[in-house]
Amino acid sequence: MHDQLKIGIDIHGVIDAYPERFKKLTAVLVAGGAQVHIVTGSRRDKNIDIMLAKHEITFTHYFSIVDYLVSTGKDVTWKNGKPYADETAWNNAKRDYCQSQNIDLMIDDSAIYRDTFHDISTTYLHLISKL
Ligand SMILES: [Mg+2]
Repeated sequence: MHDQLKIGIDIHGVIDAYPERFKKLTAVLVAGGAQVHIVTGSRRDKNIDIMLAKHEITFTHYFSIVDYLVSTGKDVTWKNGKPYADETAWNNAKRDYCQSQNIDLMIDDSAIYRDTFHDISTTYLHLISKL
């Protein structure tokens, strides 16, 4: 077991849907000693950094499904700027990361990812966006 609280937070449909709330939440979490892991599909590029900075999101770690799949030798192809990869590998990537990092709570808007978390200890908080 670990003592430090570890929170995973998705970007699309979560941080970008409620940036003011996640600004406040991530600030108090990190100030209180928790780890905040951004857990998203996107690579951490300039646009992502600009968006996170603009919304003043505080985080300690960043996980990208694309980078993870590339690092594990999976094929990732790009069409019109969007990444495509093996669907099962893609859909399990957040689960694998949360399991490996002992994430306590994962906040995400995807029902597809939610269904991959049943057999790990991370609690999946399924955010239902009003947007
Ligand atoms: Mg999402």
